[in-house]
Amino acid sequence: MADVAPSDAARAARWSCLMYHEVTPAGAAARGGYFSVTRTEFERQLRTLRALGLRGESLERVAGERLADAVAITFDDGHETHYAEAFPALLAHGMTATFFVITSRVGTPGYATWEQLREMAQAGMSIQSHTHSHPFLSELSRERAEEELRTSKRIIDERLGQRTMTIAFPNGDAPRGFTARDFERLGYRWVATSAWGPNRFDGARRVRRYTVRRDGDHAAFERMARGASPAYAPEGVRLRSLNVLRAALGPSRYARIRRVALRAIGR
Ligand SMILES: [Zn+2]
Repeated sequence: MADVAPSDAARAARWSCLMYHEVTPAGAAARGGYFSVTRTEFERQLRTLRALGLRGESLERVAGERLADAVAITFDDGHETHYAEAFPALLAHGMTATFFVITSRVGTPGYATWEQLREMAQAGMSIQSHTHSHPFLSELSRERAEEELRTSKRIIDERLGQRTMTIAFPNGDAPRGFTARDFERLGYRWVATSAWGPNRFDGARRVRRYTVRRDGDHAAFERMARGASPAYAPEGVRLRSLNVLRAALGPSRYARIRRVALRAIGR
């Protein structure tokens, strides 16, 4: 049988992108729910990356410079714990990360301020867009979805004197009918999704991310850092089957039901 040459995409090296939410203070009682990790756990994960010969860098650096031996670290929502806990931990380990902020919430209780975000940017952290008001983008008209992307980018550009280039969809919910060209026209180079799995340096602009959760066991973290494929991951399978339910219910109804269900089982 003749050998089939692998496509360029299959040959391209894999890279992982981790997705975090809140990082709660070390020793503090767990709060922030299912998707938060403690600072103790976060620092342990950074040490694990080092032990695996990997370093954490912003999504824009890993994807843009096609960094080998690096993992992209991202944080959603712009919590004040990103400044107070995640930022010093990253600095201590000589690593960077991308922070996706909701521009209407910057400086409001529980969220980082512009001054803090500026300090983070000056220290090498990447501050990018998580929309202006954190809506379910697929439930908005095209005009309103574009407005969310345009407004948040304009505000971050002005406040931090930069060219914002990445959008992360709130709740992993993509706006309907947007093509790669639409994101480009709105000024975004990278699109961070919540699809679970590894990425390849194949020119794709949509980035899959592995959710890091409070109850995630350490072996699972190592697998994600190394770029586990969904086919071998129970969680990936689980998320795919939930997507069917989500499509049937619509994203905001699904999210409400899911929150109630997680609370009922003590998460
Ligand atoms: Zn979010």
